[in-house]
Amino acid sequence: MTIGEALRDASVRLEPIGGTGRLDAAFLLAHAGGVTRQEMLAHAGRSLAPDVADRFEALVAQRERGMPLAYVTGEAGFYGRMFAVDPRVLVPRPETEIAIEWALRHLRAIGRERGRAADVGTGSGAIAVTLACELPDLDVFATDVSTDALAVARSNAARNNVFQHITVFHGDLATPLLPYAPFDCVIANLPYVPTAECAPAPDPVSFEPREARDGGPDGLDLYRRFVPALSTLVAPRGIAILEAAPGNVEALEVLVLAALPTAGVDVIRDYADLPRFVVAVIPPSDTKPQPTP
Ligand code: SAH
Repeated sequence: MTIGEALRDASVRLEPIGGTGRLDAAFLLAHAGGVTRQEMLAHAGRSLAPDVADRFEALVAQRERGMPLAYVTGEAGFYGRMFAVDPRVLVPRPETEIAIEWALRHLRAIGRERGRAADVGTGSGAIAVTLACELPDLDVFATDVSTDALAVARSNAARNNVFQHITVFHGDLATPLLPYAPFDCVIANLPYVPTAECAPAPDPVSFEPREARDGGPDGLDLYRRFVPALSTLVAPRGIAILEAAPGNVEALEVLVLAALPTAGVDVIRDYADLPRFVVAVIPPSDTKPQPTP
């Protein structure tokens, strides 16, 4: 079989999966090894080595069953770095990079690049690892209730050379973090999909762990339990950044306002202009009027 034939055949098989059959096929052929993008374009008549053809076929068959591309190749890009991903963790989403932007900007603005940050429900470790890479003197804590996810997060910390800069804890929501509070930055991308909307197979997201997606009847079960801890977790002048679904961001904002009545609270939109994050900035502890000497 030639390169061109292999690509054409795979494109047709993959087109119904995500509508990007040709791109997926080219991506998977490159991942199977031995064929560069240039060869695909310029030497489509060249025949495929049998071992490459076998590897390619195995990858295409997985993708054909609806498995997300990131699981098929075993990696996903996030904020310019590569992360190992597999069905133990959620595939990091591009919109979560907005949370990183906010965290970095705020930590720099308040001069706490050497402060302390927490990533609650770290999954692949995408958030914690990125913060540690971007701010090498930041003290980063990452937690998850899934030990499987924490194994992936640790491997991603090692892969990105920040294993020494991240403390990983197993536990429920704020519990493992309380002894180390307060934090200058707390990011949480907790499961927020309403149970009824948790997609059934063969939707690609159905391959992702249910514990990483299912947020209960209205999607806010986890946040309802977590948000009250923010008043203890976040330091004066610190920031909390919580990701949710466009449909429940407003309700999350109400929860945050109730828990942090003195904080500056905002809703932030994602790249598709959908409300996606609730951001809360805690006022300085010395906002009480100072007695005049
Ligand atoms: N932060 C990652 C992963 C988000 S998926 C990212 O942005 O890509 C949500 C994660 O929250 C999952 O890894 C899930 O295991 C974890 N989680 C679910 N319930 C939790 C709980 N009660 N305490 C801590 N983590 C929890």
